[in-house]
Amino acid sequence: MRSLVRPLAGTTRGAYAPAITAAVALVRLAAAWGPHTEITAAALQKIPAQSPIRELLGPEWNGLTSWCWMPDRRRSLAVENGVAFLTDDFLFLPGVPPDVSHTMPSVEATWAPCFRRALDALRMETPWNAARWVGTLLHFVEDTGAPPHAWPRGPHGPMENWVRADKISIADSPLRVLGEDDDSAAAAFLAAMRRYADEAAERGRQIEPLATASNRPGVEAIALVSANESANMAAAVLETLGRLASQPPASAVGELHGRLPVARGPPPPVRPKVMVAGHPWSTVCAPDGRWSLRRLPPGEYELIAALPGCSPLRARANVVAGHDTEVQFESSSAAASRGRLMNPDFSLRWTRPNAPDYWQWQKESWGSEAVPVAPGERIRLLVEWTPHSTASLVVRWRNSYAPTGGRTASEPPIAPGETERELVAPDWATNARLDLLMRPGDPTNAVRRISWMPVP
Ligand SMILES: [Zn+2]
Repeated sequence: MRSLVRPLAGTTRGAYAPAITAAVALVRLAAAWGPHTEITAAALQKIPAQSPIRELLGPEWNGLTSWCWMPDRRRSLAVENGVAFLTDDFLFLPGVPPDVSHTMPSVEATWAPCFRRALDALRMETPWNAARWVGTLLHFVEDTGAPPHAWPRGPHGPMENWVRADKISIADSPLRVLGEDDDSAAAAFLAAMRRYADEAAERGRQIEPLATASNRPGVEAIALVSANESANMAAAVLETLGRLASQPPASAVGELHGRLPVARGPPPPVRPKVMVAGHPWSTVCAPDGRWSLRRLPPGEYELIAALPGCSPLRARANVVAGHDTEVQFESSSAAASRGRLMNPDFSLRWTRPNAPDYWQWQKESWGSEAVPVAPGERIRLLVEWTPHSTASLVVRWRNSYAPTGGRTASEPPIAPGETERELVAPDWATNARLDLLMRPGDPTNAVRRISWMPVP
């Protein structure tokens, strides 16, 4: 791919206007620490009016009570004002499996990378992006303190849902600050998380026989202590992140920005994402396709862009201290493509080399992300099979943006030999998912590319 980098004279800091977005109501799942919203709300209340984190997140601050559910909404489409984003864009992170369990000890693998990632997002990305990464971190922090997540035995539902959410309050607890520089704060965060997980496990051990005996008041009394401790940890994380992110950079930094094409809806177009190869940094574009990454250390970077219907676009960028550099991807093909499937040739592997981003192996198939459709829309589906493929492709129409639930109808399977089919979306469908049924292994063993194109 051709790439073109234009250094600009001076910087254009703060050139974007934060869009006022309606916080999307997030669906609660049955197996989730019941009161994430109330725990986060108690933490937000604890943060003083002048704290840097409030200023850094600006209009996105109150949305944290929604974004703290992000990891429970894995593989979903979230639609705001007619434009969609993929929740996986705030969960996919090199080094952290997107399907990591939220229970001890697995959840421990999220602590350090998600703490650093949220801190980077506050420094480098828009408040819209940063709030969603902070929400993901809050979820893992809060889940760690849920009695059945810290003590994964006994009846899970009652152990985490028998709690009086209306009584959660940390007004009388001190607000902790975990450290004054990145490394000491990260180390203090991990040490505090370990203590907090141990104490939650001890409460879980006490709750287990009470929940088994259906002693709801007994469970509630202990679970409330855990919920308040979750709020204390969340508040400490928020205050610490804000202080760290608002410190001036220790050495000179530069900035990158650009713009990628975004289709017009309806159906809601999915926002593109820009990733930095070999680093945990990425950012999701604004509804007009603009993106920026601030406070990058000077040097050469390879950038990757993911857009619906396109193979990943690549560009090289040279970050110069004190400069804001415009990055141009080879985007003419992207603008021309009306395709909607993310990573249609499975070649984007930013998070893990052995599996394609935006596809998930699920027992006997590779499942796609949700592809938005308009009810009654005509779609041309093209499949490039490999020579001896024995796989088949199933299209499932959906009216829920979550991976399960809602109304579903499947098209008859498409098998090798059939390379093109025209489909009509049912008049109730809002999206479709594709399942590539095959033996375990890389999806490129079966298919080279899938195109999902609306017929004009
Ligand atoms: Zn969870």
